[in-house]
Amino acid sequence: MSLAETFIKNAPQGISPASDEIAQALSRLEPRTQIFIDGKFVPAASGKTFDRISPINGKVIAKVAEGDAEDIDRAVKSARKAFDSGVWSDLAPAARKKTLLRFADLLAKHADELALLETIDMGKPIRFSKAVDVAMVIEHVRWYAEAIDKVYDEIAPTGPGGLGMIRREPMGVVGAVIPWNYPLLMAAWKFAPILAAGNSLVMKPAEQSPLSLLRVVELAAEAGIPAGVFNVVPGFGPTAGAALGKHMDVDAISFTGSTEVGKYFLKYSGESNMKPVSLECGGKSPNIVFADADLDQAVMASGMGVFFNSGQSCNAPTRLMIEASIKDQFLEKLKGVAANMAPDNPLNPKTAHGTILDGTQTKRIMSYIEAGQKEGAKLFAGGKQVHQASGGYYIEPTIFDNVKNSMKIAQEEIFGPVISVIAFKDANEAVQIANDTIYGLWASVWTKNIDRALTLSRKIRAGTVTINDVDGGGITLPFGGYKQSGIGRDKSLHALEKYTQMKAIYIK
Ligand code: ADP
Ligand code: MG
Repeated sequence: MSLAETFIKNAPQGISPASDEIAQALSRLEPRTQIFIDGKFVPAASGKTFDRISPINGKVIAKVAEGDAEDIDRAVKSARKAFDSGVWSDLAPAARKKTLLRFADLLAKHADELALLETIDMGKPIRFSKAVDVAMVIEHVRWYAEAIDKVYDEIAPTGPGGLGMIRREPMGVVGAVIPWNYPLLMAAWKFAPILAAGNSLVMKPAEQSPLSLLRVVELAAEAGIPAGVFNVVPGFGPTAGAALGKHMDVDAISFTGSTEVGKYFLKYSGESNMKPVSLECGGKSPNIVFADADLDQAVMASGMGVFFNSGQSCNAPTRLMIEASIKDQFLEKLKGVAANMAPDNPLNPKTAHGTILDGTQTKRIMSYIEAGQKEGAKLFAGGKQVHQASGGYYIEPTIFDNVKNSMKIAQEEIFGPVISVIAFKDANEAVQIANDTIYGLWASVWTKNIDRALTLSRKIRAGTVTINDVDGGGITLPFGGYKQSGIGRDKSLHALEKYTQMKAIYIK
C-alpha cells in the first residue's frame, strides 16, 4: 500500500486537529525545503528560512529556505549557462520529448506523495489533489512533450527570388511566478510548455505553498532534465518575485496571481530590460442562467464551480446571474448544494470542501461577507467561519441574494466560497451586467436556445465563454483573460507562443 493509501485508510473522520496524522505523514514525506539551483538543493544565500503553516491545524510543518535577490541571480546565471550550452535548448524536440515523458512517468509514480504534500501545505481535499491537480499535472507534461515534435515552422510566400523562413526559437531564460490556489497545476501550466519549447526556467512558487513544487523539480532532475534548466527559488513576492521580474538577464516572465501584482510585473519589465510579460490575473466570472436551461445541471455546476477549492479559483463563476422568473426556485435548489458542501478536514478522503489557505485569507473573506451585509445584500446561506477549535481555517459555502452589480461583493474578487446572486430580465441586460467589470477571464451561459448562446458568447468580453457548463475543454483550450484579467494564454498550443521567439530568416 502506498503512503497516501495508508494515510487515506487511516484518515481522521470529521474535523480533528489531525496533528499526529500530519506529523507522521511529514516524517515519511520528508519535504524538501531548500532552493533548487543548478541541479542541487542549497540553502538561501542569507541563510534565512520561513515557516510553512498547515491550514489544517495551524501548526508549522516546515522551515523553507527564503530566497532573495542573490538567490534569484544565482538561479538565473545557472539557467543562462545551461541555455547557452545547448544541453537542453539545442536538443531535437523528439529528444526533449523523451526526457519529459520520463518526467511524467516519475510524477505518476509519486502521485500519492505529491497529492499529500499539496493537501497538507494548502488544505485542498486529498481526493481532488490526487484525482484533479496531480493527475492534470501529469497530463500537461505528457501533452506538451508529445506536442513539441509535431509543430512545424513556416515558409513565407516571398516569391521565387529567395526563401523566407519563419522559425520559432526558445526565448532563453524564462522566469515564472506562481500562486498558491493550485500550486502544482499552475506551475505545470507554465513549466510544461516552457521546458518543452527548450527554455531554461527559474520558477518562484508562492510563499504559502512551495512544498509540492520542490519535490517535483527534484523528480525533473531525476528524469534527466539537465542541471540549470529547471530551477526553483522559494521566497516572498516583493523580494524574490520582484528580483526575478526586474532581472536584466531574464528573457520573459510568466505570472499567475492577483491583478495588483500583475501590474507590478509590467512595471518591472519597463524598469529593466523590456522582457515580454504574460499575466493570468483575477476574475469575477458571470454565470448566466436563463429560464429555459436544464436547471438541475445548472444548479449543481453553479454551486460546485464556486465551492470547489473553497472558491479559490480565478475563474470561479462567482457572479451568479439568474433570469428573474426562476430565481427563487433556483436558489432553493442551490441551498441544497451548499448544504452538501459543508467544509471538513481535507485529509478525509470523503471531503469535497477543505480549508481556506490561511488566517489572512480567512479574515479577508469574512470582511467581504460583512461588507455584503452592510451594502444591503441578503445573506441567503452560510456566512460563518467554522471549526475554529481545530486550529484550521474553514468557511461555510455562502450565498448572497439581492446583489447589485455595483456592490463590492459583485465587483471585487473574494477568492472564497461566496456566490453573489444578481437577477436579470433579458439577454441584453445580462450582457450589460456581465461586461460591467474590470475583469474578463471567464463567463458561462446556460440556455437551450442556440442563437442566444452564440450571440452571448460573442458579446461577452472574456477569454473563455462556456455554454451549459462552467468548465470544459481541458488542456485543448487556451485559458486567459481580456481586460484586467491578463495578457496571453496558458494551455493549448497557444501557450507556446509566450515561450518562443519568432525569427525571420531570408536566403537570397
Ligand atoms: P495573493 O495576494 O492572492 O497571494 P499575489 O498576486 O500576491 O496573490 O501572489 C501571487 C504570486 O506573486 C506569489 O508567488 C507571490 O509571492 C508573488 N508576489 C506577490 N507580491 C509580489 C511583488 N510585489 N512582486 C513580485 N511578485 C509578487
Ligand atoms: Mg498579494
